[in-house]
Amino acid sequence: MTILLGVALAGAGAPATAKDAPLTEIHQRLRSATDTLAAPAVLTLDACGGGFDAGLIQTLVRLRVPATVFATRRWLDRNHVALQQLRQHPELFEIENHGAAHVPAVVGRRIYGMTSPADVDGIAREIDQGAQAVAQASGRAPQWYRGAGALYDAQGLQTISRLGYRVAGFSINGDDGATASASTVARRLERAAPGDIVILHMNKPGSGTADGLSRTLPGLLARGLRFEKLSQAGEVVPVPDAPRRTAAKP
Ligand SMILES: [Zn+2]
Repeated sequence: MTILLGVALAGAGAPATAKDAPLTEIHQRLRSATDTLAAPAVLTLDACGGGFDAGLIQTLVRLRVPATVFATRRWLDRNHVALQQLRQHPELFEIENHGAAHVPAVVGRRIYGMTSPADVDGIAREIDQGAQAVAQASGRAPQWYRGAGALYDAQGLQTISRLGYRVAGFSINGDDGATASASTVARRLERAAPGDIVILHMNKPGSGTADGLSRTLPGLLARGLRFEKLSQAGEVVPVPDAPRRTAAKP
């Protein structure tokens, strides 16, 4: 599988380290995503910190829908039972790297209330330690990286690439970090089509995510949409439109 990043950093010519430089959100989908129902879609489930949305995982197991989990070391350390459940279904779930302590792959900024590392070495440590935790928990070395907040600066993207990982973007933001209502989640998932990569969260039980997913999945499956794990889904490419660029809050 190869990957092309949909990176178009704004402010070309401006220093990438500027505190007000826009950050990049990576939007991707599967290449085989033309109008054929033969192409799969991908569910990615972030486990940033906090708990375990058991209802969400039960729905996926019941419907035999695979997903790729992006877990932090912090989440893996605190959710042993959840990890056991994921590992009981290796045909459905794989675990990829969401970092160690859930700090963004950005130098010296605050994003969504999170403080990012002061330098590139801090970003590299976050990635490395997350990868070690995933390998230890799953028995499989991760291939993909998704930074906390799914926003990146140039140094973050370069560091991820230098360490040999691919940045995991998405084409549908399903739940706004598990803050969206079940009806909003359902409405967004209704749009899922072959080739889409969906981001959801599995670390906030009681959010609208599990309910929205369980309302929508049977209909998507009845329409003929099938799901694959990211590692088995085929080539990932940038979406045609430019990635959304977000100016970080001070
Ligand atoms: Zn996260």
